[in-house]
Amino acid sequence: MSSIAFASVSKRYGEVDAVKHLDLACAAGEMLALLGPSGCGKSTTLKMAAGIESVSSGEIWFGQRPVSRLAPGERNIAMVFEDYALYPQMTVWENVAFPLKVRGVTGQPAAERVGEVLTLLGLRAMADSHVKGLSGGAQQRVAIGRALVRDPEVILFDEPLSHLDADQKVQLRAEIKRLQKLRQVTSILVTHDQTEAIAMADRVAVMNHGVLQQVAAPQELYERPANLFVANFIGEPPMNLMPAQAGAGGVLAGRGWRVTLDARRAALLESRPGAAAVVGLRPEHIGLRAPGPGEAVRGTVTYREPRGDADVLTVQLAADAGAGDVFITEIAGPSRWRAGDPVALDLQVERLLVFDAQSGRNLEVAA
Ligand code: ADP
Repeated sequence: MSSIAFASVSKRYGEVDAVKHLDLACAAGEMLALLGPSGCGKSTTLKMAAGIESVSSGEIWFGQRPVSRLAPGERNIAMVFEDYALYPQMTVWENVAFPLKVRGVTGQPAAERVGEVLTLLGLRAMADSHVKGLSGGAQQRVAIGRALVRDPEVILFDEPLSHLDADQKVQLRAEIKRLQKLRQVTSILVTHDQTEAIAMADRVAVMNHGVLQQVAAPQELYERPANLFVANFIGEPPMNLMPAQAGAGGVLAGRGWRVTLDARRAALLESRPGAAAVVGLRPEHIGLRAPGPGEAVRGTVTYREPRGDADVLTVQLAADAGAGDVFITEIAGPSRWRAGDPVALDLQVERLLVFDAQSGRNLEVAA
């Protein structure tokens, strides 16, 4: 298995900068997800790794080998596509055997290898079925078998689960992850679905407008987003992001709320006097209570969305002048709260993130 590295890779289509100066590495045996909204450059990045698209500048490395001028067939990669790309008239066995056949591997060695992969994927019983009659999940399993059969250096997954039903998605997610770990095959997964990226990948690279925003383990992305884009993109319901005024002594105030940061984070603010800040707080890091007299942060529930195990509640804060900020909270459910209820809010200051309003950078994450 080899690592993959993009070294200052860019791709231009005419006037469009699809990928800009991408520096990103996927370690040998790692599964790295490329995640971001439609048009952010994920597929272009994957296609450049595959050799389906050329790079405009920069270099792609598989281990010590520069590959950006090699044809796809010279790169020892396998791809798994959203639409399976199988041969419908062939059987499961023939589809999986195909990559070996085109490389001249036939007879007993091929039969052993195909048999082993079919067993691994639980496809043995349907070896002689034609793929066109199979469910989407089974077809994608065959496609994965076809990718694994010749032990490629790298597997590139392009939205492999998007055509599947929810239950097949969950099953195949776990299955791909199991196989990837078992074979230790270096893999890149393109997806627009954060649940998928977080569930499957060792690390996730978040892109926007062709620019890499952050690459980190899923938990790290969730807890320490590097900037406002990642903070807003990761998590559902999304993080509350509120403009705030910074005062002396680590005080941050918005419309209808005020918090005092601990000394360490207060120092970060004081090193940039006058900078406008944005405060980030996840919905599950806000508690609600029945309001007593003189509550610091008060509001009214304006909307309750029951989600079974939790309620997502929208709270309009009361402010001295005009309307206060609106916070989304997530409380274990079913909760006692209903639209119209007055509430007091506990903002968990230790979980709060502070971003620079101009650059969007998280003040606690090094650039
Ligand atoms: P994603 O996979 O994140 O949805 P893409 O990599 O497909 O994004 O596209 C990135 C940008 O490049 C988009 O603005 C898209 O319109 C543009 N693009 C992609 N492929 C082509 C192409 N073949 N010709 C021109 N523009 C393209």
